[in-house]
Amino acid sequence: MLSLGNLYHGGIMVNYRCTAACRHCLYACSPTRRAGYVSREAMREICRLLRKGGIGSVHIGGGEPFLDFQGLAMAVEELRDAGITLDYIETNAFWAAGADGPAMLKRLRSLEVEALCISVDPFHAEYVPYALPLRLAKLCEKNGLGYFLWKQQFLPALSRLDAVKTHSRAGLEAVLGDAYISNTARLYGLRIGGRAVNIEGEYAGRGALADFTDSKPCGDLLSTGHFHVDADCCFIPPGCTGIRIPLAEAVEGIPEGKYPVFEALYYGGTGALLEFARGQGFVPEKTYPSRCGLCFRVRAFLAGKGFAELDADHYEESLKYY
Ligand code: SF4
Ligand code: SF4
Repeated sequence: MLSLGNLYHGGIMVNYRCTAACRHCLYACSPTRRAGYVSREAMREICRLLRKGGIGSVHIGGGEPFLDFQGLAMAVEELRDAGITLDYIETNAFWAAGADGPAMLKRLRSLEVEALCISVDPFHAEYVPYALPLRLAKLCEKNGLGYFLWKQQFLPALSRLDAVKTHSRAGLEAVLGDAYISNTARLYGLRIGGRAVNIEGEYAGRGALADFTDSKPCGDLLSTGHFHVDADCCFIPPGCTGIRIPLAEAVEGIPEGKYPVFEALYYGGTGALLEFARGQGFVPEKTYPSRCGLCFRVRAFLAGKGFAELDADHYEESLKYY
């Protein structure tokens, strides 16, 4: 059995669907990801397993958690009843212009929610006018809810744009400069996964395949530093998105031999992954932008072969919308 030991810090993704399809989204969320929201039964099981794994606090994210406000309120109640502290709820603020905004914030306050993490950056501005996160911040102040803008550092650049419109890539490049995408990615310090693999292709140089294939085990797969649990009660490692295993196994032990892709990476790194994939018919390119970029593309190929630890939707959605 592989074991993660005690969990350290994580979040619950209540859905995969989102009103946006940001080009840096690690989880490849979008308006066309499958609909659906975490159920009360799933929340109870997630809370039970998180408690068993030693977790005392989490954040809620998605997708866009506010796509189902009643579902969100239920998720908050379940955390509270399980004695798990809610650090914050993430949102892109798409709903902040609606008349119901103040009442929704009051309801969250009544459920003892302390803070929102409000997304604001040029990538989000392609889908959400940045006036909305700013409006939501003001609503939080009026209604006694804490918040933080993620990331505040982008506000000077955003102030050069029309706040009430969304902006195309061409429009953002015209105002922020041709390097809008790479500059935004660098200020974020993005990990390479999900839709962000496309960003890497724009500005990273490429190295020979051999530069990125090694036998260094990928211990990140069992890292519990900023993991997520999705609405299907599956554990997603912090950086290696597109891989997921049941949370019950992450907490209680992962059976040896059940997940060949996961094990190849865990024990033998990208070298072992590539060898395994070649056996499945994968033909590599001569160059790749990075080790994780290579890993993503090999896994995207293997996802089509039905391996249980690979979320096929993730790879398909990661390569759409860009
Ligand atoms: S980064 Fe957030 S707002 Fe953007 S697509 Fe992903 S979940 Fe949605
Ligand atoms: S090479 Fe793959 S498994 Fe290893 S850290 Fe990068 S994405 Fe994760």
